[in-house]
Amino acid sequence: MRRAITIFLLLFALSFVNKAESLVDYVNPLMGTESTFSFSHGNTYPAVALPWGVNFWSPQTGENRNGWMYAYTDTVIRGFKQTHQPSPWINDYAVLSVMPLSGELKINHKERGVGFSHQNEEAHPYLYSVTMDNGVKVSLTPTRTSSVIEVEYPSLEGQYFVIDAQHGGSKVEIDQMRRRVTGYVKNHNGGVPANFTNYYVMEFSHPIAEKGVMINDSLFAGRSVGEHDRVCGYLRFIVPEGEKLTVKISSSFISADQAQLNFNREVKGKTFEEVKSAAISEWNAMLGRAVVEDDDRVAKQTFYSCLYRVLLFPREFYEYDSEGNPCYYSPYDGEIHDGYMYTDNGFWDTFRAVHPLFTLLYPEVSERVMQSLVNVYNESGFLPEWASPGHRGCMIGNNSLSLIADAYIKGIRGFDTQKALEAMVHQTEAQGEPLSVGRNGYKEYFELGYVPYPNYYEATAKTLEYAYADWCLSTFASALGAVDIASDYKSMAYNYENVFDKSNGFMRGRTKNGDWVFPFAPEEWGGAFTEGSSWHYTWSVMHDVEGLSQLMGGHENMTFMLDSMFSAPPVYNYGTYGFVIHEIAEMVALNMGQYAHGNQPVQHAAYLYDYTLSPWKTQYHVRQIMDRLYKPTPDGYCGDEDNGQTSAWYVFSAMGFYPVCPGRAEYAVGSPLFDKVTLNLPMGKTFVIEALNNNPANCYIKSASLNGKRYTKNYISHFDITAGGEIQFNMADKPNIKRGVETGDAPSSMTQIKK
Ligand code: CA
Repeated sequence: MRRAITIFLLLFALSFVNKAESLVDYVNPLMGTESTFSFSHGNTYPAVALPWGVNFWSPQTGENRNGWMYAYTDTVIRGFKQTHQPSPWINDYAVLSVMPLSGELKINHKERGVGFSHQNEEAHPYLYSVTMDNGVKVSLTPTRTSSVIEVEYPSLEGQYFVIDAQHGGSKVEIDQMRRRVTGYVKNHNGGVPANFTNYYVMEFSHPIAEKGVMINDSLFAGRSVGEHDRVCGYLRFIVPEGEKLTVKISSSFISADQAQLNFNREVKGKTFEEVKSAAISEWNAMLGRAVVEDDDRVAKQTFYSCLYRVLLFPREFYEYDSEGNPCYYSPYDGEIHDGYMYTDNGFWDTFRAVHPLFTLLYPEVSERVMQSLVNVYNESGFLPEWASPGHRGCMIGNNSLSLIADAYIKGIRGFDTQKALEAMVHQTEAQGEPLSVGRNGYKEYFELGYVPYPNYYEATAKTLEYAYADWCLSTFASALGAVDIASDYKSMAYNYENVFDKSNGFMRGRTKNGDWVFPFAPEEWGGAFTEGSSWHYTWSVMHDVEGLSQLMGGHENMTFMLDSMFSAPPVYNYGTYGFVIHEIAEMVALNMGQYAHGNQPVQHAAYLYDYTLSPWKTQYHVRQIMDRLYKPTPDGYCGDEDNGQTSAWYVFSAMGFYPVCPGRAEYAVGSPLFDKVTLNLPMGKTFVIEALNNNPANCYIKSASLNGKRYTKNYISHFDITAGGEIQFNMADKPNIKRGVETGDAPSSMTQIKK
């Protein structure tokens, strides 16, 4: 009896622990940070921020302007940086670094680095803390636009605090009496109007004993103001032993007054612990939209580390005025507007799974993103494709159309849909500046039904992405009742057929005369393709997988082609790149044939067996990818993480399904990784995904039931999930080759399966 009571109490205690579980503590922000220019394990940095925060903070190990701002193998810290960088390849803007020092004053970023070791470092989304080799301890916690930093100096000697306002035009103004520093930074890497400015304000807990500025490389001790190309400031404190220096920093893209408003609202009068607790609560609320129950702690760490990455970008670029209404400085027209603006996103990556995860689990965010897209069109004449913070020349496609169609089809309504339709049509029939905006090669695409090579670089990749975008536009127009637009764009959605070479079963470059580009090798990268080869782009018919299958000669042939991709030797020809780009090196390293999960265009391909009615092959491969290519460690990704996309692949896949075709309210079913995942949906609804008999060997679905009824389909409807309910999978170590094989079990395509 006593034992029974003990067990009862133990169970009670365990269930209590379970409920109080802090999901954010599964997150490792260092996942993906062990990366270099030539090989990416993620190319991430430990962003200390709120979800979608206006400003992120990161320790800075690299020199100023180095996109690899925090590399796990680096040995010194040079600062703690307010950053907005979406990717090292795009680099940063509006950067402000600060660095506490002990002893000698060294202002220049090349000289001020202090050794550190990972043993003395703690990284969470809500806190970064490190004791550097000189004994200085720094702890940092974020709000939406601000941060609170605590510094503990090892002795009274030389308690310096350096402010590095960086290159490109900056100002530091020290108000010694009021213990404040204000100023601005203007550095950027393009995509901004001339008046672009980040205004900052900081306040210190202790009196400033000594001050000075460095203008370019000249030091002016005692001076309070510096305004020039490159300005740094320094302060010295006398913080008594046992006390911490507290620094509160806020900023604004709108004005100095707005920076002060952000400061007053977010950090004034608050302690470090209060700000940190609020950040923990915010993260747990957002991560808690998907609650995982499983004994595999490492897989849970991977899942929540990935979900954290999904919830960072696109960044909120708006602030709240004195009345509490959203407003923003537009990086497109340089004016202040009311409403929402998001930035730092390459839709070529994120249309695939990041934005679909928002439409499913964070629809309120999706709605604001949609408003932001319409705003960008109003202010620049085009929808964004790669924004940081304004239009940037990077990647290809009209994937903004995918975002809008996906949101609308899945029920997001709070944006100007007529304006969006106008913007989408315009995006397909005009070329903007830079070339990534609008539709590069649109005239030839309309005339020929494809973009010719070599007249346009990456022409076949463009054709494929345009055809998918045309399907998205057609779907959206149809939903709005714009039947003519719907019909015109639906016929263009078949244009993928024009770059498919039936003689060899691959997508291929095509000249203006209609000839195939010669010679051709499916393993040749670049040329008519973007950061990939024909092995990767041949599958880019997300909206009509069945149509692609029929071009290939039917399900059996397409299954064989998919099998071949996973089993062919990972040979390559670097083609027009002229050297081994990191994506090629990563494909070879991951050792899955020609499958290159380290880059985005092929990431849906393992799910295509669902369409060829051999779903057990999808189950096998997606489980292999989850198990082999993701770890919650600094070398945890198999290539660029890219604004949440490679992470969103894992989040969806671990839940057991994936949005192969954003814009269609269906998800292809894969292999659920966890015993149980509960999705906490809007309106208090929940959808539970349960996998019985699940373990690393049991990757196959033996049977399934949806809300208690036998379920054989290789897809789940979006609305079956949002209605609330439960899907239960029974897992096994052998494929069930009789399940999911009927015509009606395949996910939808534009083309019907031939009976
Ligand atoms: Ca990439």
